Amino acid sequence: MKDIQLAGTMEFFTRYRQLIAEGEDIISLSLGELDEPTFEPASKAGIQAIQDGHTRYTLNNGIHELRKTIAERISQSNGINYEPQNVLISTGAKQAIFNLLFALCDRNDEVIIFSPYYPSYPEQIKMTGATPVIVETESSNSFQVDSNLLNNACSNKTKAIIINSPNNPSGVIYNQNSLESIAKIARKYNCWIISDEIYNQIVFDSNICPCITDIDPELTDRTIRVNGFSKSFAMTGWRIGYCIGPKTVIDKASLVQSQITNNANSIAQYAGLSALQHGNSIGSNVISSLQHRRDLTFTALQNINKLSCVKGEGAFYLFPDLSELLVNRPEITVRQLAFDLLEQYHVAVVPGDA
Ligand code: PMP
Repeated sequence: MKDIQLAGTMEFFTRYRQLIAEGEDIISLSLGELDEPTFEPASKAGIQAIQDGHTRYTLNNGIHELRKTIAERISQSNGINYEPQNVLISTGAKQAIFNLLFALCDRNDEVIIFSPYYPSYPEQIKMTGATPVIVETESSNSFQVDSNLLNNACSNKTKAIIINSPNNPSGVIYNQNSLESIAKIARKYNCWIISDEIYNQIVFDSNICPCITDIDPELTDRTIRVNGFSKSFAMTGWRIGYCIGPKTVIDKASLVQSQITNNANSIAQYAGLSALQHGNSIGSNVISSLQHRRDLTFTALQNINKLSCVKGEGAFYLFPDLSELLVNRPEITVRQLAFDLLEQYHVAVVPGDA
């Protein structure tokens, strides 16, 4: 446990909640969640599920209708033939990722993550006994994958590569070159790909967000997609997510889940089903509003001298580079800056080291 860290995002979120409780008016740009109410059809279906008595254990993997709907939806959009048995419903995408890592990794295995990354990845990998291997990406290269760095980081120990596109926290969508580099390495070392697609319905400027299997369909047998309802339907508190992929892996991930939590919340499963039956996301008006806020914030950041920022193409994050701004100010850490922004200016952000 000494090696596992509390998510750095939580520290700021906790302080933000404290200040709110004290009556302060804070603009929160910290934890990744929409400030919209849950997608209405989902809320209604949740209430209905309680009234209909769907309040007992479900199958460990999740209710058939939901798995069927997810399998059909993802088969349609990716041209792959998934069945309900390829789907495992979990308590958030976070548990889906943990189930997979626990199912796939042995001690001494390594898992590749691209930096900047979602802070839970390395901690979850360490909890399985495996080792996270961080491959840096640079803002000067729009946070795209450097194939040489990736090549140098991989070996026969590489069990899996995690891809998160659109990315938390850069907002960047991995381009064709990045995905080709990853595909080449995945083939070379025969490793698994965990494709965290939790933001793939939040994409701006009519960008498209390709998946690794669009670039190399043969990798379908080695790719597990992770997704959920938290971001695209404003359902963070409902704790409902899923993974979909080869049955062999899904069965093992299901075994992990059966021994730690069993099925995801039954009410949330019915809510998620209704959400999907009504669309792919909370609605284009919310996505447009997020794009507008991205533009507003991006323009404001660009007007700050010596600060640079890559324009996020999806998700709802920007990851500005303060290194030039702080170059002669060693006394100011990004952590301190984030605390000052919160305490003095009432804007909650997350420092990049988290
Ligand atoms: N992956 C990424 C990249 C995320 O940003 C998050 C949530 N911040 C998750 C997974 C987990 O989402 P969920 O709420 O479905 O557990």
